[in-house]
Amino acid sequence: MLLDSHCHLDPNYLPEGRDDVLARAEAAGVIAFVCIGVGPDLDAARAAIALAERRANVFATVGVHPHDARTADASLVTELAELARHPRVVAVGEVGLDYHYDHSPREVQKDVFRRMIALARDVGKPIVVHTRSAAADTLAILADEGARETGGIIHCFSEDRAFAERALDLDFDLSFSGILTFKNAAAIREAARLAPADRILVETDSPFLAPVPVRGRTCEPAYIVHTARCLADIRGEKQELIARQTTANAVRRLALAEVAPAAHDPVRMSFPS
Ligand SMILES: [Zn+2]
Ligand SMILES: [Zn+2]
Repeated sequence: MLLDSHCHLDPNYLPEGRDDVLARAEAAGVIAFVCIGVGPDLDAARAAIALAERRANVFATVGVHPHDARTADASLVTELAELARHPRVVAVGEVGLDYHYDHSPREVQKDVFRRMIALARDVGKPIVVHTRSAAADTLAILADEGARETGGIIHCFSEDRAFAERALDLDFDLSFSGILTFKNAAAIREAARLAPADRILVETDSPFLAPVPVRGRTCEPAYIVHTARCLADIRGEKQELIARQTTANAVRRLALAEVAPAAHDPVRMSFPS
């Protein structure tokens, strides 16, 4: 009964038949997927929405990844605002700052991040945040721009306990990816151990970051079982309980139970409460 709160399923990443990928995940116990629609243009956003329209257990997000911030001109942002209102879009993201790769100039990243937070507040949907090597600026901008109004998720949490506390205060939940299973992730595991049970999520961020013991392979949503098992070990809890808890947390945070069902899918969703 797992929910992958963050995966990339658009054709840019999964050209070889994503329905197989989803079927493998379902066989492994994944009941729902949040498909992140970001890219240098709006193709991935549209593809995420199309997939979510087709399948009841896929939900979409749309946003501008910090890598792509320099491509976000006024017309793209206007169109994105339109897409963000789509009933199958459950969050604005992933948006944020990435000073590790610096694919876009930092000033541009910050400006676009601010605009994406404003957009989320406008459409009344939570924010999925990507932050790398930019902890202080990320927290400052979230606070400055009133992100608490919508709250959201710090995706692929890879900061420390102090960051976790500030993020939780700003009404952001912590989503743990395969990084949690990596040897050098002690600080992340500490944050995962201490976070309140109702504020933790799991994700694959596939096709990136496959967890141990499948590290190095192309990641896919089925692998979330390894991350969930690791999180259960860290917290000294049964895997089943962690699965139920993280799924319920994602359903609540993203208001998935209230999302209009997809039109053409016979699969009926029922989420744990
Ligand atoms: Zn990310
Ligand atoms: Zn991502």
